Amino acid sequence: MSYTRYVMFVVLAAGLAAAAAVLHLRTEGTSLIYYKDKAIVLVYHDIRQMPASEEAGASTLGADRLEDHLMMLESRGFQIISMDAFAGFMLEGRSIPPNAVILTFDDGYESFYSDAFPILKRFGATASNFIVGISSDLFNPDAEPHLTWEQMRELKAHGMGIYSHTYNLHRMVPADRTGSEEPALTARMHLEQKRRSETEPEYRRRIFSDLTFLEKRFEQELGRDRSLLAFPFGSYDELVLEEGAKAGIELFFSVEEGINVPGSRIVKRINAGEPYMTSDYLWNRLTAFF
Ligand SMILES: [Zn+2]
Repeated sequence: MSYTRYVMFVVLAAGLAAAAAVLHLRTEGTSLIYYKDKAIVLVYHDIRQMPASEEAGASTLGADRLEDHLMMLESRGFQIISMDAFAGFMLEGRSIPPNAVILTFDDGYESFYSDAFPILKRFGATASNFIVGISSDLFNPDAEPHLTWEQMRELKAHGMGIYSHTYNLHRMVPADRTGSEEPALTARMHLEQKRRSETEPEYRRRIFSDLTFLEKRFEQELGRDRSLLAFPFGSYDELVLEEGAKAGIELFFSVEEGINVPGSRIVKRINAGEPYMTSDYLWNRLTAFF
């Protein structure tokens, strides 16, 4: 081999080695296992196309930010799994891939269909929405638009999940206990006409009938599915869990932050939906849990 040829060979070999190293790093990057037999559930609320100048409300994330989150999850090797796979993991011991992430959205805003759904489809990702039944049944021109049953049928046909955020308990009610407004799911309501607090049996019946009514509406409009509940305002107590279980609720979604392991009926969720939450922010937040 002449000297020139030898140099060329060395350069080529070094180049190949460098390329192989880069390739190795790439595969390494996506095959990293942060956690196994555990799952992270993210919670979002409203997603909207927003010009940078527009002041975003609390719990509203720009559509571009959602896209950044999905890109980060994909490039860092997280696996977005369906709600069904997650419920099977939590309740029936079914296995899930490492670095499993579940996407959830609360409150049933129409923006889930108009703004989030197209992005989710592009990434081949599934997500679930916890809707407030009455907001989809009764149109309120004064409120932010909510999902229609027709839109929900289309979402479900594309693998998205629709679950309960109560039928009509996503509100504050006057409570005797403290003399102030409390979440309707956990408050002992002050009964105006009877001039007293509701009794425990009355309270239990109010909760049970609300939860079973929305499950009935789901069955009528969307067909049978698992019964899952996200607590409005994250508020719950033992009685809610008891009445929920009676109403057939299998998993309860809280806003306590953490990572999930099978056996618990209360699901922890990490908030990813505030306007300032960039993909770097989310990544740093996630690393606190594994
Ligand atoms: Zn809510």
